[in-house]
Amino acid sequence: MKTINDFNFQDKKALIRVDFNVPLNDSLEVTDATRIVSAKPTIIKILEDGGSCVLMSHLGRPKGVQEEFSLKHIVDKIEDVLGVEVKFAKNCIGEEAEEKASTLQPGEILLLENLRFHEEETKGDVDFAEKLSKLGDIYVNDAFGTAHRAHASTTIVAQFFPEAKCFGHLLAKEIESIKKVLEGGEKPVLAVLGGAKVSSKITVIENILDKVDHLIIGGGMTFTFIKAQGGNIGDSICEDDKTALALDIMKQAEAKNVKIHLPVDVVAADAFSNDANTQICDVRQIPDGWQGLDAGPKSLEIFDDVVNQSKTILWNGPLGVFEMENFAKGTIALGESIAQSTKNGAFSLVGGGDSVAAVKQFGFEDKVSYVSTGGGAMLESLEGKTLPGIAAILD
Ligand code: AMP
Repeated sequence: MKTINDFNFQDKKALIRVDFNVPLNDSLEVTDATRIVSAKPTIIKILEDGGSCVLMSHLGRPKGVQEEFSLKHIVDKIEDVLGVEVKFAKNCIGEEAEEKASTLQPGEILLLENLRFHEEETKGDVDFAEKLSKLGDIYVNDAFGTAHRAHASTTIVAQFFPEAKCFGHLLAKEIESIKKVLEGGEKPVLAVLGGAKVSSKITVIENILDKVDHLIIGGGMTFTFIKAQGGNIGDSICEDDKTALALDIMKQAEAKNVKIHLPVDVVAADAFSNDANTQICDVRQIPDGWQGLDAGPKSLEIFDDVVNQSKTILWNGPLGVFEMENFAKGTIALGESIAQSTKNGAFSLVGGGDSVAAVKQFGFEDKVSYVSTGGGAMLESLEGKTLPGIAAILD
C-alpha cells in the first residue's frame, strides 16, 4: 500500500483529491472546518518536501454551475487552517486551471473549482479524468468520504498515474483502522451495532459475524430481534418482514461462536417525544401503547462488562434516540464504557454517520482510538466491499 511517505515531492506537483465538502451557513461561511483540518498533515508533508499542491474536491450536490456551491467560499478558511496562501482556478479543467497549475511553485497551493460543476465527475468520465490528470505529477487520494464512489477524481483519474499514485495520511489511517478491526484485531473483538433498522445494517452484520467474538445489537434494531423470539415489544419500531432474518442471524452467530448481546431492559415512552412519560421495563414485556427508545440500566451494565473485556471495538449506530435528551443516556453510557476500555488499552473505531455525530456531541472524540470521516464509505467497508477509490490506488 503506497502512501505519501513513499514519495519525495520535491519539485513535484501533487494532484490531491481531498474531501472539502464542508457545511456552509446562509452567509456562505464554513461552520465546521474538521475536514480541512483533517487534510492538513498530507498537504503540509508535500509542501515541506518542496512540492506544490493542486487540491480538488466537490462541495454539495450542485446541478451544473451553481454559485452557492463554489469552492471559492472556502478559500479563506483553508488559508486560516494551513497558514499558506491559496490560489483558485474558476474551473477544475481547461486553460486557466492548466496555466495556474503549470506555473505553481514549490510551497504553493492551488484549489480547483467544484468538480461536480461538471456532470462528468460523478459519471466517472475518462476524458474528464484525463483532463484533471494533466494538473499534477503524482496523484494522491485523501478523501475517504468519497472512496466508495467510482467518480472521475476519486477513481478513474488514478489510471493516468500508473507509477505515481498513493494514499494521503487521512485515507491511509482509515484503511489501517478498518483493517485493524476486520483483520487480526486483538481478541476479544466486539462490534456494537445500533441505529434504527436491521435492513440498513444486515450486510454489515453478516460480514462481521466472521470477524468478531461479541456483537452488541442495540437501538431500534433490537425490537425486530425481540419480537422474532416471541417477546412483546409494544409499539416499538420493528421490521416485521425481517424477523425470520433476525432468527437466522442468531443461528449463524451461534454456529460461528459469536455471542450476541441484546438489551434486557429498555426506557419505554408513551410517545415518540422527549416530553413523553417513561418507564423502565423488561425488553420482552413492553406494554401496548409504549415504545422502547433507549437501553435500560441493566442492559448498560451488561454492555459495560462486555466492552471492558474487549480488546478491539467497533461502534456503529446509537443505542437509543440520542437526539432527544431523555433517550440519550444509553448512547452516552456506551461512549463512556468504550472510552474507559480504550484507556485500558483497547483499540476502538467509531464509524458511520450517527455514531460519529453522537461521539462528537457528547465529547468522546478524543477518548476513542479513531473516528472515521466517511459514513457510506465506512459502511461499505464493513460490508466487506472493496471500495473503488482504494482499489484504484492498489491496482
Ligand atoms: P442509523 O442511521 O441506522 O444508524 O440510525 C440512527 C437513528 O436510529 C438515530 O436517528 C436514532 O434516533 C434512531 N434510533 C435509535 N434507537 C431507536 C429506537 N429505539 N427507536 C427508534 N429509533 C431509534
